[in-house]
Order: sequence, then C-alpha cells, then structure tokens
Amino acid sequence: MRMFGLALLATMVMTGNAMAAPKWAIVVHGGAGVIERADLSAEQEAAYRAAMERVTRAGAEVLADGGSALDAIEAAIHLLEDDPLFNSGRGAVFTAEGRNELDASIMDGATLSAGAVAGVTRTRHPISLARQVMTASPHVMLMGEGADTFSREQGLEQVEPGYFYTERRWRSLEKFLAEHGLPVPPKPQGATKPDEAAALAHDEGKYGTVGVVALDRAGHVAAGTSTGGTTGKRWGRVGDSPIIGAGTYASDASCAVSATGTGEYFIRLTVARDICALVELKGMSLQAAADEVIQKKLTALGGDGGVIAVAPDGQMAWSYNTSGMYRARMAEGEPLVVGIYKDEP
Ligand code: ASP
Repeated sequence: MRMFGLALLATMVMTGNAMAAPKWAIVVHGGAGVIERADLSAEQEAAYRAAMERVTRAGAEVLADGGSALDAIEAAIHLLEDDPLFNSGRGAVFTAEGRNELDASIMDGATLSAGAVAGVTRTRHPISLARQVMTASPHVMLMGEGADTFSREQGLEQVEPGYFYTERRWRSLEKFLAEHGLPVPPKPQGATKPDEAAALAHDEGKYGTVGVVALDRAGHVAAGTSTGGTTGKRWGRVGDSPIIGAGTYASDASCAVSATGTGEYFIRLTVARDICALVELKGMSLQAAADEVIQKKLTALGGDGGVIAVAPDGQMAWSYNTSGMYRARMAEGEPLVVGIYKDEP
C-alpha cells in the first residue's frame, strides 16, 4: 500500500498534475525483419494485424483493471507464445539439430528484480518460467536442462517437444541447412500437422521474437521478451532475448525496453539498458534515446532489428532499422495503434 502511494505520488509529480491518476500504457512487438508490403498477402497481413490487436487489448485489459505491468506482460506474451505466427513458444524456429530451444526474460522496473531462461525445451510458456525464476528462485538466469527441471518442480505446464513444431519453421530450417551444407535432422517427436494459422505465417528473415513493455496504474514499468532465437542456431547459441540489459530491461528510474533483431549486436551494445541510461542520465526523451541506439549505434555496428519502450511518465516509443516490425501500442484514453511497415505511424 505504502509502495503504491509513493509511486502514485512520484507519477503525479512527474506528470506535473497532482489531480491526474497515473495512466497505463502498453507496447507490443512481434519481431522485426524483412517485412514489406509486397511480401505479405492481404490474408497474412490481416492475420498479423488481428493478432497484434488481440494481444495488445488483452494486456490493456489487465492494466485498465488495475493489474500490474508484470501481469499484463505475462498475459499478452502467453497469447503470442501460443500463436504460430510468431517465433516464440509454438511456432518457434529450430536449431540446426531440429530442436526448439526457447529463451525468455522478464524484469520488474519497481524493484529491478529480473528472471530469465535460456534453451528450455518443454515449457509451454517460457515467459512464465522466467517470471518464476524471478520470484521463486534466488537467481536471475537458468539454462538448459536445469531450467527444464526447475520448470517441472514449479508445476508449470509441460509439453512434448513436438508441440512447438510448425511446418513453416521446419522449411526455413531445411533451407538454412541446405545453404550451410548441413544434414537435415529427424523431425521432433510428436510434430503436429500443419494448421491453417501456421500456414499464414510470413518468413520475415531470421527474426520474429515477441516482447511487451507496460506501465501500470501504480506507475511501475516492466518488460518481457520471449523467443525461439535464430533459425539453425548451433552449439547452444543464446541471443539477447534472455540477457537482462540487452534484450530486456526495466527500471522505474528510466524506462522499460524489449528488443528483437540480431541478438549478438544487441548484446554487444547492451541495447535495452543503453536506451534507459540515455533517458536516466542524459534526460533524453524516450523516442530520441531509442532512435539514438537503434538508428545510430546499432546501424553503425552492422546489426538490425528494433525495440519497443515505455516510460513511467507514459511516453511510448518504438524504433527499428529493418523494413518492418510487427508492433502495437495502446494507452489509457488513447486509441490502439497497430503497424507493420515503415511508412505507418
Ligand atoms: N533477438 C533474437 C535472438 O537473437 C532473435 C529475434 O529477435 O527474433 O535470439
């Protein structure tokens, strides 16, 4: 109660309006990459827009009801992880060995608590496992078999590896393996038949990670990210998505960020934390900070992808240097905005 009161007061001071209740806000991404008008059929485009709208509204409902940013993020990412259109949970990309190794992370801006998992193979909702690491273990990051064991012990929903299988991602793997002269592994056990929704998915290049950032009515921000990583990854490769400070970061002192793109570059630039540092230490606006890191630093280093961000005072931003990014945002008293291509707001 006391925490809530303090946060409320802080938000009122920041907005300069002692009468205004803090607003809630949510921003969602479904991956960035080569996404151009000519590449998507009308049906595909409609499917992505509908998915982004459904997910954003689900998160917004939690926030409008007074729920926490963390709860809104988890609810929204569950839908994305279940949706075969996106590279997370069901529909995740395959490793060169034909496995789905899933990464996820979540961070609470109010307390700087964070949880992350890398290379998990049986948890239906890796974002919930990341949250469980944050709240039910003394650690920040668990990986591989140990993380799978922790997941079972915590009673999270387990699925057969074949649950994550989609035909389209398998075809992307076959293409990748052919290009790299690698053998095609056997399909995972229990691989499901292609369904209609999965057939609509667009191959946006290597990316497709999902992420959500949110600001709740108590004035707290949080961020979450979930991914299958990159097609054909080998040797236990882990990208930026489960790395706190790279793919995900949240602090009530600055902002919350979730990223998607060439993970190696996002790790080297600590993209998410860097954006928040520019806001916190240089007093930059959220959009200017996001553009500084994505359009200038990331581009100069040769990386590509994008970010979504939200600040405790209600600023929302996205920035990407690819031809498109599946994205949506919504805030109290503001309409839902959904975008895919570069020429959209
Ligand atoms: N950033 C992710 C990774 O490198 C990939 C993505 O955004 O789709 O694992």
